[in-house]
Amino acid sequence: MSEDARTKRIVVIGGGMSGLAAAHKLIERRQEGRLPLEVVLLEAQSRLGGSIETARREGFLLEGGPDAFITQKPWAMALCRRMGIAEQVMPTNEKHRRAFIVRKRKLHPIPEGFMMLAPTRMWPFAFSGLFSWRGKMRMGLDLVLPRGPSEGDQSLGDFVRRRLGREALERAAQPLVSGIYASDPNRLSLRATMPRFLELEAKHRSLILGMRAGQKALGDRTRSDSGARYSIFVTMREGMASLVDAVAGRLPAGSVRTGCGVNVLAPQPGGRGWRLELADGQRMTADGLVLAAPAFALSRMLKAAAPALTAMLDEMQYASTLTVNLAFRREAIVHPLNAFGLVVPAVEKMAMIGASFCHVKFPGRAPEGNALIRAFVGGAMNPWAFDLDNAEVVRRVLAELGDLIGLRDQPLFTTIHRWPRAMAQYPVGHLDRVARVDALLASLPPVAVAGNAFAGGGVPDCVHRGETAAERVLDRIAKGE
Ligand SMILES: Cc1cc2nc3c(=O)[nH]c(=O)nc-3n(C[C@H](O)[C@H](O)[C@H](O)COP(=O)(O)OP(=O)(O)OC[C@H]3O[C@@H](n4cnc5c(N)ncnc54)[C@H](O)[C@@H]3O)c2cc1C
Repeated sequence: MSEDARTKRIVVIGGGMSGLAAAHKLIERRQEGRLPLEVVLLEAQSRLGGSIETARREGFLLEGGPDAFITQKPWAMALCRRMGIAEQVMPTNEKHRRAFIVRKRKLHPIPEGFMMLAPTRMWPFAFSGLFSWRGKMRMGLDLVLPRGPSEGDQSLGDFVRRRLGREALERAAQPLVSGIYASDPNRLSLRATMPRFLELEAKHRSLILGMRAGQKALGDRTRSDSGARYSIFVTMREGMASLVDAVAGRLPAGSVRTGCGVNVLAPQPGGRGWRLELADGQRMTADGLVLAAPAFALSRMLKAAAPALTAMLDEMQYASTLTVNLAFRREAIVHPLNAFGLVVPAVEKMAMIGASFCHVKFPGRAPEGNALIRAFVGGAMNPWAFDLDNAEVVRRVLAELGDLIGLRDQPLFTTIHRWPRAMAQYPVGHLDRVARVDALLASLPPVAVAGNAFAGGGVPDCVHRGETAAERVLDRIAKGE
């Protein structure tokens, strides 16, 4: 334990966004002065940020992992405000705020008013070349179909097939959802990922009618709201790593140890606090723990101490993806690139699952007269693509982009980031599994788990879960557990 018996040491394991948010919350609580605290953050790699990585090269700003976060989930934005860096947050470009979906190797704009799963505006939908007439008619059946089961969980795939038909799933829902979760919709839990659609069905029966009602209410609110509004997706002006740097900069000197993986965790004999064995052979103790490393890493650490828990952690699934940044001179690309990017349905059998036109999406990402395209490869629907070597990945991506947007010249340069088992998956029953993990943790000395497998997947969810985990451990310590 800490040298001063009253000071409680809380160790955060994992320095991605979840662990950073947890450590920051602990420091905020320490500053309130109610509990003397020592906070230690242990990160296995030599840098902080986990999946967040930004680089600069020849005037291009390259994101390896996330390039934006959503403001409808308020926690990342709230963290930026509390740290006084809200002015570094930048909205997406007003112009060209739309995306394409690939159909038979051609780009089709997502029809105006199409909201992830279903249309809300009939004319743009009716004239779209994205769906066949048969597919459109089947989607229209949503207007008359009865409600489905409201209890229990179901896959997003089953839900969309039932309400809107197979074509809606294969041609729109699957690629759009894959763009967020890199998941197989036939396994993805609707309740864990998009509960709003369940609520819409329960309330309005028809998704189309429910979303139209929601849009009208939003329109009315927007018209009567004169306050400053953030766009739905925002980023950090200097790249997502500046969010990591801002949090790290607020942690006390000496509290962060990088290159310091944890190998073993065990409750102290007598059940008060924890004993840690680090990868370099050192040992340390803690009064409480926030576990913010991936579930498979936590499982290894807890193998001897909590076998029931490790079995549950082993059930948490992850997909592997890679991102390819391709820098071009603008005239090397034929297409006007009048959108934020494109997504590719799995039925197209391409290596790419999507691509962002980064210089269109956000200003300042490429020098004047240049273009920056970021392709996503792999995911749960295309695991084979992750196994290709880098040269083959670039070759395939260039060939596929060539078909879709026309390339007159080679890129100025390309960079690849590999993210093995980095994107948590949320299979049917996921929320029950998380609840069971939380219940098992309650029987151990003060500990709580964060990380994208236990949050909702995006940066704001990770911030929220990290902060909540920190509060949970503090509560348990304050109660004298
Ligand atoms: C390519 C990609 C694109 C994405 N795009 C977006 C996006 O645009 N918007 C969005 O909101 N989200 C996006 N996400 C999701 C989001 O980035 C992640 O969910 C989030 O950053 C995960 O944070 P985390 O801290 O939970 O996990 P991680 O970032 O995986 O961090 C876990 C940390 O634990 C460390 N660790 C592992 N083992 C040990 C050990 N034994 N001891 C100590 N430390 C250990 C790891 O080194 C790592 O740093 C994207 C993810 C990826 C991979």
